[in-house]
Amino acid sequence: MIWRETLAGIVSGTLYIVATPIGNLEDLSPRAARILAEVGLIACEDTRQTRKLLEHLGLRRPLVSFHEHNEKERCEHLLERLEEGVSVALVSDAGTPTISDPGYRLVRQAIARGVAVTAIPGPNAAVTALCASGLPTDAFYFGGFFPAKRNQRVQQLKELKDLPATLIFYESPHRILASLEDVAQVLGERPVVVARELTKVHEEFLRGSAASIRQMLEQRPAVRGEMTVLIAKAGPVAEPAARIPSDPSAALERYLAQGMSRMQALKAVAKDHGLSKRELYRFLEKTSRRQ
Ligand code: SAM
Repeated sequence: MIWRETLAGIVSGTLYIVATPIGNLEDLSPRAARILAEVGLIACEDTRQTRKLLEHLGLRRPLVSFHEHNEKERCEHLLERLEEGVSVALVSDAGTPTISDPGYRLVRQAIARGVAVTAIPGPNAAVTALCASGLPTDAFYFGGFFPAKRNQRVQQLKELKDLPATLIFYESPHRILASLEDVAQVLGERPVVVARELTKVHEEFLRGSAASIRQMLEQRPAVRGEMTVLIAKAGPVAEPAARIPSDPSAALERYLAQGMSRMQALKAVAKDHGLSKRELYRFLEKTSRRQ
C-alpha cells in the first residue's frame, strides 16, 4: 500500500511526531525536514532550540511552545487546531518526542478524539547507545531517567536485578557518579557502558564495570556532556567487545596529561578496562591502522 502522504503531501489534521537530531544535524531525515516545512504548526519544547534547527533548514514556520509545564493546557489548544484540519508536528529539543520528553498525553488525547497520529522515526539516544555498546541487543529494558533520589534509585535497581535484558537509563552529568556508585553496589561487577555525547565531536563510549567507569570519570577535571548508561543483564557476557574502550587513545591521553609516563598510562588504561597490556596494545594497533 502506498501511504497517502507520498501522493498528496502531508495529510491535514494529522499529528506528526517528528524525531530530530541528538547532536549531529545531519541526522535529521529528509522526510522529517519535509514534514517540518509543510505542517501548519510546529509544537516544540523550546522555541529557541527549534528555531535554530529550522534556520539550519532555511525554514520559517509558526511555532508553539509545548513543554512539561504547559503540556496540559496546550493539549486542548493543539487538539482544537488538529480538529480544524491543521496538521501539527510535535518535536522535542533533541531526539524522539515522548521518549523521556513531553508528548505522551497529547498522543493519548489525539487518539481518543479520533485525530490521526503518525511518527517520523529518527534519532534516539537509548537505541543509538545500545547498538554501539557491544552489550546484548536481543532484549533491552529502557528505564528513562534514573530516579533522582538515592533510595528510589537503589530500589529500582534491586527490582531490575534479575531482568534478562540489557538495562538502559538516561542520566545527567551531575548525578552520574552517584548513580554509578549505586549500580556498583546493587549490581556488582557487570559490564557497563556509558555512552557520552553521541553523534557529537566528542562522542565516547566508556566501558568497564560501574566502579571502574566511575573512577575514570572522577579523575576528570569536570564531568560533562549528555550520557546514556547501559548495564549488562545478570550472568556472563562473553564478548571481549564489552570490555574494550572504543577510544583507548583518549583515555591514554588523559592519563598522560595528568603527568603519567606512557608505560604507567598504558597500565592504568588496561587496568581500568580489565584488559591485559597485550590486549590493549593489539587494540591500539588496530585502531591506529584504521585512522
Ligand atoms: N527524547 C530523547 C531521545 O529520544 O533520546 C531523550 C531526551 S531526554 C530529556 C535527554 C537525555 O537523553 C540526556 O540527559 C541523556 O541522558 C540522553 N541523551 C540525549 N542526547 C544524548 C547524546 N547525544 N549522547 C548521550 N546521551 C544522550
